[in-house]
Amino acid sequence: MGLDAFVCCRCLEDGCAAPPPVAARHDPEDGVVAEQSSLSSNAFEDFEHWLATACEHPDMRVASVHVGNWGLLSQFRTALQRRGDWGNVDALVASIPSGNGGSTTATAASEALAQLEAFASSSFRWTAPKLIDATTKEVVGEGVGEPDGLFVFAGSLEGGLDLHGRFFVRQQQTGALLFRAATFTQELIADSDGSPVAATLVSDAQSLTWPIVLTAGTGDGEMDQLLYPARLRVVFEVEGPMSFERIVSPLRAVLTAAVVHDHPVHWT
Ligand SMILES: [Zn+2]
Repeated sequence: MGLDAFVCCRCLEDGCAAPPPVAARHDPEDGVVAEQSSLSSNAFEDFEHWLATACEHPDMRVASVHVGNWGLLSQFRTALQRRGDWGNVDALVASIPSGNGGSTTATAASEALAQLEAFASSSFRWTAPKLIDATTKEVVGEGVGEPDGLFVFAGSLEGGLDLHGRFFVRQQQTGALLFRAATFTQELIADSDGSPVAATLVSDAQSLTWPIVLTAGTGDGEMDQLLYPARLRVVFEVEGPMSFERIVSPLRAVLTAAVVHDHPVHWT
């Protein structure tokens, strides 16, 4: 789960790849593909084998990375939007898709890369309240829509974090506060299939049943799965661009490869 990216090598156009079994071309979306869209299964297999072994780059990809899961990408976007000292990051924000697919041209990648480096080299810091799984420390949510700090929307209810480090749930229409706590537990309510569909939040002073389950993503890539935290609490974390190295690093790799090889970044 999440976002992957790759950049093709230049071996096809530079003539240093083995000759393809059928005509091949660069597709702006899919990388190196057969010119002909409908191949017999044998011809397709031959093509796939050629693609895997045609040059020193597996699948003719000079860079291939897992960028991050969607939760991490959302946190990264929020960080980019802070009023830091890294200047304009519009090209970087525009280059990162919010779904699987699409591509970023080498020219756009060059601009995005310069903005990524400006962000990554900044020593700007901030403190942010986060709702975490008290057991695993995985982030469950953080206020992206400052200053109201909301990140959960469930019908007529909305929830978020306030500046005092409390998780709150309120009526969207009236603003009436239904729940507010720094630490609380979550008891799941399942449907007939056993899937959790609602939850009761319980703190020392209050409880609230609402039609949503707070979840935390865990791991990354293949191991990605949602967890349902039983105990949650709000913590204040000091963050900065250095907190995002695990997403800056793969982005730097594909954006650099796009610039060097003059090929687009393909997002998958
Ligand atoms: Zn190659």
